[in-house]
Amino acid sequence: MADKTIEYYSESLSPIIRGILKKMSEKKINLTDKSLNEALTADEDFNRLFQATCTPVYKTSVTNRILPYIDMLKGYVSDKDLAEVFLMINNGSDLEDVIDTILGAVSGQLIKSDKRLSTLTEFVESLFKKVLTTQDKMSDNLEDNIRFVEEDISQDQELMGNAEEIEQILREEGIVFPGKPFNKFMEAFDSKIAGKKDRLGSMTESYSKIESELTEYKKEVAQLNENIRKYRQETITDHLTGLNNRKYMDIKLAEEIVRFGRHGQPFCILLMDIDNFKNINDIYGHIVGDQVIKHLAEVVRFHVRKSDFSFRYGGEEFLVLLLNTDIENAVRIAEQIRAKVETTNFTLKEKSFVITVTIGVAQYMEGESVESLLERADKNLYNGKRFGKNRVIG
Ligand code: GH3
Ligand code: MG
Ligand code: MG
Repeated sequence: MADKTIEYYSESLSPIIRGILKKMSEKKINLTDKSLNEALTADEDFNRLFQATCTPVYKTSVTNRILPYIDMLKGYVSDKDLAEVFLMINNGSDLEDVIDTILGAVSGQLIKSDKRLSTLTEFVESLFKKVLTTQDKMSDNLEDNIRFVEEDISQDQELMGNAEEIEQILREEGIVFPGKPFNKFMEAFDSKIAGKKDRLGSMTESYSKIESELTEYKKEVAQLNENIRKYRQETITDHLTGLNNRKYMDIKLAEEIVRFGRHGQPFCILLMDIDNFKNINDIYGHIVGDQVIKHLAEVVRFHVRKSDFSFRYGGEEFLVLLLNTDIENAVRIAEQIRAKVETTNFTLKEKSFVITVTIGVAQYMEGESVESLLERADKNLYNGKRFGKNRVIG
């Protein structure tokens, strides 16, 4: 079938091309790449043939490429969203529209999980507080009770002492009652005290049981808290470089703008892109390319303060947020990073090479949005590339 199709189309193509060339010569149009391209694009027969031949091949290959990735999203993105994407692919929708829909579904899912995580964190934190207050209350309460019973016992013992004294006095005075009333009185007291002592023992025992159970709870809740903290850290970390990811960058920049409104402390961003990175991938392969990105992240991390933030902005692009820094200092730091990268020998898989970076710097201006700040840094980065790369523009 394929052979027949190729034959058929090649036979149909030559009369169309001949017709187009004839028309061009009649209209005295010079034959150039551009004029031929225009004539081909404008020719209905050619377009019909082009669509019939190329479109299905293009669509099938795109569909085959994209489907395995969509399959991986099963279980992460809602079935409804995935069904919509499948439908779009089957209907031959524009690739860009398909990608838009996929990204929309994935980011929607991410935001949802993030909200769920915050709710869970709040729940665990309030649970933790409750365990602590319960423990405090219970121990106060039990301690009060134990103290009360202990005082009661010592009062009883005092009374018994008094009774013995009275009996002694009466005996000395020669006053004698029939029977032995004081003995009975003392026996009653004795058994009362023994009962109270028993109560006191079981109270102390149950108190220490509850106390150790609560301590156990406290440990479990603290572990839960720690797991959530780790998970949260993972969600804001870029897996390849260990730097913060783009999602956290959006959050952090928005936070800094709010803080700027309150304190007015200057802050800057450095937008950094590796020069001619495609060559590295082409020559050494994607895996070495990834390792270069990882090593560059270490250089960046080493050159900024602990209080600053580094993010992986895109594939081979980084963004550094320099807090409490004006443009002059930011340019100076950017220059240090640029120079360090230039003189670093990357040795990977026994191959050694040098890379360079271009950096666009921008200081936040009062009232501007995150987008505008990024745009200004990006413009400087773009100019740095235009003026010959391996440079800082601020
Ligand atoms: P320029 O100097 O203009 O920046 O040239 P460039 O070749 O670096 O071009 P550009 O920045 O536009 O494109 C970056 C290329 O880097 C595109 C892609 O092949 C590659 N790339 C992007 N992300 C990754 C990644 O995560 N890993 C690897 N190995 N390569 C990536
Ligand atoms: Mg780039
Ligand atoms: Mg680049």
